Amino acid sequence: MTSIQQQVHTWLEEGRVDIFLAYRMVEGHPLPHAFTRERIDETDTLVTGPARYSLEKFATHIASRYPDAKIGMVARDCNQRALNVLQVWNQLKPGQVDTVPVNCCPSLLKPHADCSYLEPKPAGHVKLERGQDPNQSLAQADTLPRAERFDRWMYEFSKCIKCYGCRNICPVCFCKDCSLEHPDLIGTGHLPPDIPIFHLVRAVHMAGRCIDCGLCEDACPAEIPLRLLYRKVNAIVKDLFGYETGSGDTLPPFSILGDKPTMSPQPLLAVSQE
Ligand code: SF4
Ligand code: SF4
Ligand code: SF4
Repeated sequence: MTSIQQQVHTWLEEGRVDIFLAYRMVEGHPLPHAFTRERIDETDTLVTGPARYSLEKFATHIASRYPDAKIGMVARDCNQRALNVLQVWNQLKPGQVDTVPVNCCPSLLKPHADCSYLEPKPAGHVKLERGQDPNQSLAQADTLPRAERFDRWMYEFSKCIKCYGCRNICPVCFCKDCSLEHPDLIGTGHLPPDIPIFHLVRAVHMAGRCIDCGLCEDACPAEIPLRLLYRKVNAIVKDLFGYETGSGDTLPPFSILGDKPTMSPQPLLAVSQE
């Protein structure tokens, strides 16, 4: 048993957590898995990667059905930032999720060499250099003339096939009624979806909420540089309000618009009641 497998085994055995979210190799692929006391022997098969998934999204689904569940989770830096946001937005109770911090493994970091959180945890792992892809560099993108930037984004948005992969994978997209499916806002029956409104609606919603995990961009079959877009809105939020998403326990500045977020956790996908 590895030390993490042993730790999770102990946490389940002692009742520190009711369920532990991590990964398990299935036919050579690491898949998200919920480890439980009832099937504690499965902890022998627990792995922490190589895979990246919004485990915290599962946590919110579990918490919405079992509000008192004590949940454990392996957490990279991006998972932890997402958990902070989900607590701030009242989707998880403070302290409801107990984490085992893990480092992003090098094979996962390579395609994300522009990640802003390159310092490995624990120390001693491989440290990567930032990527050179101009699509990924906010500073470089900002040097383009405004008209060229606008054309570029319209071109990128025109590739969208409205699959909702970006929203569905996003750990901080938790609304029961999503604006992107509201017929008054987004028309139906044509592709691409109304541009740029479809993407701008989501970008505005990510202001002060996106934790820059990059999962949306990984999921996008049209390879739209979504992460760059959300980095831009968050850079504006930081400049204007000094607010850094995912780092603290205060609501973002835009939460002053509309109702106070007192909603009980609402899963995006329906949870079976059986
Ligand atoms: S990078 Fe994409 S998936 Fe990750 S939090 Fe931001 S919008 Fe959501
Ligand atoms: S944050 Fe916006 S895009 Fe995400 S689920 Fe809510 S309404 Fe939809
Ligand atoms: S994942 Fe890409 S193609 Fe799918 S809705 Fe999002 S932006 Fe459009």
